[in-house]
Amino acid sequence: MTNFIQIPFRQKSWFGIPRDSDFSLQNLPFGIFRTAALPEARVGLALGDSVIDAAVLFDAGLLAGVSGLRRDHLVTDSLNTLLAAGPSVWRVLRGRVAELFTAGNDTLVRQADLHSRVLVQAGLAQLLLPTKVSNYVDFYSSREHASNVGAMFRDPQNPLLPNWLHIPIGYNGRSSSIVPSGTSFRRPCGQLKADADPAPVFAPTKQLDFELEMAFITGRRTQLGETIPVTNTDDYIFGMTLLNDWSARDIQRWEYVPLGPFLGKTFATSISPWVVTLDALQPFRVGGPEQTVPVLPYLQSAGPQAYDIHLEVWLKSEKMTSPQKICRTNYSHMYWNMAQQLAHMASNGTNIEIGDVYGSGTISGPTPDSFGSMLELCWKGTKPIALPDGTTRTFIQDGDTVIMKGWCEKDGIRVGFGEVSTEVKPAG
Ligand code: CA
Repeated sequence: MTNFIQIPFRQKSWFGIPRDSDFSLQNLPFGIFRTAALPEARVGLALGDSVIDAAVLFDAGLLAGVSGLRRDHLVTDSLNTLLAAGPSVWRVLRGRVAELFTAGNDTLVRQADLHSRVLVQAGLAQLLLPTKVSNYVDFYSSREHASNVGAMFRDPQNPLLPNWLHIPIGYNGRSSSIVPSGTSFRRPCGQLKADADPAPVFAPTKQLDFELEMAFITGRRTQLGETIPVTNTDDYIFGMTLLNDWSARDIQRWEYVPLGPFLGKTFATSISPWVVTLDALQPFRVGGPEQTVPVLPYLQSAGPQAYDIHLEVWLKSEKMTSPQKICRTNYSHMYWNMAQQLAHMASNGTNIEIGDVYGSGTISGPTPDSFGSMLELCWKGTKPIALPDGTTRTFIQDGDTVIMKGWCEKDGIRVGFGEVSTEVKPAG
């Protein structure tokens, strides 16, 4: 059993946290940030509208009880070094930070100068990629999404391929183009060929799409040849982020046979900058959908393995003053769970690295407003979305900003992911 450190719901903070904040005392997600005044990248934990500078706490001697913690675990441009120190370091560090901010603890309240240096206004912090990503894998684990795509492009009566109910299908993506929220990209060019065209052309994609996904990030490595039992995956998963798996549908359609997604996916993948720990997500653990076909023993996970994470996608054109919600769904709809995905990933002995990103696959729910891509929401371009600026969309246009949000909520306690927001620029 993984020794999660949970911050009890009854525990309150002396620090003013807005009621609707994603970053409650019970959350305390990890990220990497810098500011104009502090140009050296460092580890932060989000709390309300602020970022806690862990290195300042360390320098003040307030993390002395965290055995094994070093300053270079905290003043660094990725969480990898802290994670490599082990869960007995990062878990205890997060627990100690919670203690310092719990009502009744006046350590920081008494020291106004220290207090002001520990807490950085979120608006002043530039949030960077949280980990150095060696490997990026994208799964395809929503039955509704796979069925929608299968129905559109193959057979509506028989939309799932024969392997889908037996294997958590996935492919190896490109880790170098994973970017944090706020990083815009240019509309990619590629080979396009409509069915009626005699030959392909090289041009900007006409079918740029988002894919609403969550990612889990690994916090522990394996050696080549080692596997991970499906019952032990919690020991390897550090936490989760939102992920937008940008996709150029026309490039993808022409290139994907027979080897699968390639340049239609690798131009950009956006993630939210705060990693919400598996510890913080434990109160929101729920059962997932029933798996209708028995799975092989190495994929037989036990107990509830899904998480009740509310998800939304918002779209804002250049002319709109505020974004419009275009999708609302929940992570708990996923057919294959993280334990099965990671056990499957490691089942052939490939080595898992610290900081790897594993995308869930597009998260679509059962209703048309819960589909996690424009392809599905607009059903292959046949059902355009009307925007308040008088325009319509079937895919994403230049100047559009796509915003994804996610959060858990129970008994008045909110544990959220913030957002991943990305603007699309015209092709170069
Ligand atoms: Ca995907």
